[in-house]
Parts: sequence; structure tokens; C-alpha cells
Amino acid sequence: MFIKEYAVIHLLANLLTFYPHEFLKTAFYVVVEHIPKPDFAGLREIGLSDFIDMDVAGITYKNTYYILPHVARNLRVHFHELAHVVQWRELGAHAFIMRYINEIQTCGYNDAPFEKMAYKLDAHFTINGNKFNISDYITQQF
Ligand SMILES: [Zn+2]
Repeated sequence: MFIKEYAVIHLLANLLTFYPHEFLKTAFYVVVEHIPKPDFAGLREIGLSDFIDMDVAGITYKNTYYILPHVARNLRVHFHELAHVVQWRELGAHAFIMRYINEIQTCGYNDAPFEKMAYKLDAHFTINGNKFNISDYITQQF
């Protein structure tokens, strides 16, 4: 048990080296039983049904992400959603939504560049890769 707690603290300290403290003070999360998805006819009409119905452990809207209880202590999930918070912030809500929808429509969820970026970063975090400022990195990708 002690070792488990130590690992979590170590990972948390690790996370803090990737995301600036000032940024983390402006990002929030909510643990929810059901992930809130934008489910309205217009989105289904443009081909987003698969995305709307897809089981996910987390989703980000602007500076807040929603995660399921079973991943509430999974820092990789936090890391991933925080990457989306940066994307939302850098592009602005309208541009983010337009681009994200376009990526889902044209590439599918798994190959959407925004998702690939977030998965690449959370994998880098998980293997304890070289430290760099994630916010700066994402900003440079735009
Ligand atoms: Zn994602």
C-alpha cells in the first residue's frame, strides 16, 4: 500500500513538471457517473453518431474535463484530458469545436490529429519521458 501511494505521488510530481502550475490552476475536473455528451439530432445528421455513442472514460469542454470514477486516480487520463484543455484554450471554443468535429468526420476518432496528439503526450508521460512544457508544445503544433 505504501508503495502504491508513493508511485501516485511520484507521478503527480511528474505531471507538475509537464504542465505549468499557472495553467493547472485554471483547469478543472469533475468525477461523474455518466460522461456528458452533446447528443442532438444535428450532430447525428453530420455523421457523429459513432462518436456520440462511443464509450469514453473522459471528455473535455473548455477548461473542465469530466471523468468516470474508475479513472479518477488515473493520472494518464488526467494528463490526456489536460492536453485537450490546452487545445481548447489555444484555439478558442468555436475554432476547437469546428476543427474537432471536422477531424472526427474525416479521420475518425482514433486517427483524429487532436486525439493522436493527446494520446502521444499521455504515452510520453506514462513512460516517464523527457520533460518539456506541454502547453508550449501544443501551441507550437498549431
Ligand atoms: Zn482525447
